[in-house]
Amino acid sequence: MHDLSRLAIHTMTTKPWDLPTACAKYSAAGVPGVGLWRQWLDARPLAESKRMLDDHGLKAVSLVRSGFYPYLNETEKLAAFDDNIKALDEAAAVGASQVVLVCGAKPELSLPENRRHITEGIASLVEHAGHVGVKLSIEPLHPMYADCRSAVNTIGQCNDMIDQIGDEWVGIAADVYHIWWDPQLEQEVKRAGQRIIGFHVCDWMTPTADMLNDRGLMGEGCIDNRGIRKLVESAGFDGPIEVEVFSTRHWERDQDEYLADIIAAYKEHV
Ligand code: ZN
Repeated sequence: MHDLSRLAIHTMTTKPWDLPTACAKYSAAGVPGVGLWRQWLDARPLAESKRMLDDHGLKAVSLVRSGFYPYLNETEKLAAFDDNIKALDEAAAVGASQVVLVCGAKPELSLPENRRHITEGIASLVEHAGHVGVKLSIEPLHPMYADCRSAVNTIGQCNDMIDQIGDEWVGIAADVYHIWWDPQLEQEVKRAGQRIIGFHVCDWMTPTADMLNDRGLMGEGCIDNRGIRKLVESAGFDGPIEVEVFSTRHWERDQDEYLADIIAAYKEHV
């Protein structure tokens, strides 16, 4: 595959680059989409970030991220709600059609309790999501993060939650890093169908030196990126393909060379 029209890169993938640099480099390389992490919006007014994207012919395909619903007290619950509302407003302001949700988890709470907070937290946002026209995209996380990052760990759980909440403003971000191991993947992706509104690619390194920041570039590890892409596409997904790699090893490299490698890996392995 040599067409870059569906390629998007998360700003976190090229973490050393600020927004002006990332916009200039992606645009020059022919990458049309950006997975926009919220930290990259901090330095300037939202309208200015939007203009910067527009001026480079770039589209924010997702705003990353909000969520973190489980709480130990009312103050935390309200803070999470406020931050999620803010994220939806930010997404609308920069033209992103979805906010990626990392659902959160508190080790002090039981898994069922964490999951109840998450379902209720997402449900409480649907009205505002519809109001601003931005979808809530639930990203299941690998179960190694179930203690403190997300108690939502499979596409199946997302399907169950969306069955309860409704799917008009709620969808699923399928990130290969988190779902590649799941024996129910094929049937749950089919069940999800067009609920899948985001697709994130990277690779799983063996050994993995760091649970968070040792992802591989597609082709470096054991994930069948192309196979999972075919699976989500056969379920109806035809949106952007977002390269999301957190890697200390790659962040230490020359980022221009890394960007060239990202594009080559996308063509060869996705
Ligand atoms: Zn992701």
